[in-house]
Amino acid sequence: MPESTKKGSEDAAKNLPVFDRDRCKQCGICAHFCPKGVMELDEAGFPRIIDAEACTECRLCEYLCPDFGIKLAAPENDAPGANGGRSDPLR
Ligand code: SF4
Ligand code: SF4
Repeated sequence: MPESTKKGSEDAAKNLPVFDRDRCKQCGICAHFCPKGVMELDEAGFPRIIDAEACTECRLCEYLCPDFGIKLAAPENDAPGANGGRSDPLR
């Protein structure tokens, strides 16, 4: 089993937080309570991913968001970047 191939497929399959800006009220809970420091707030107060590799897919951010503004999903589908600005995965 080639190690390099295995690692590549694991990275591709990883789920990461996807933010719904229509729901987000910029409270910052997700960024503040993530145990791995995966997110920070941008200038407007919206969360964005700064360390995707650190994410353990624990889903704490998804559970804590009071406005159902986060869903863990594989970013490979259509996200152009870690934050992306996607707004449809919760529907
Ligand atoms: S917890 Fe939800 S509402 Fe609050 S900043 Fe994060 S995504 Fe936005
Ligand atoms: S799933 Fe867990 S580790 Fe990943 S960003 Fe959310 S709270 Fe942080």
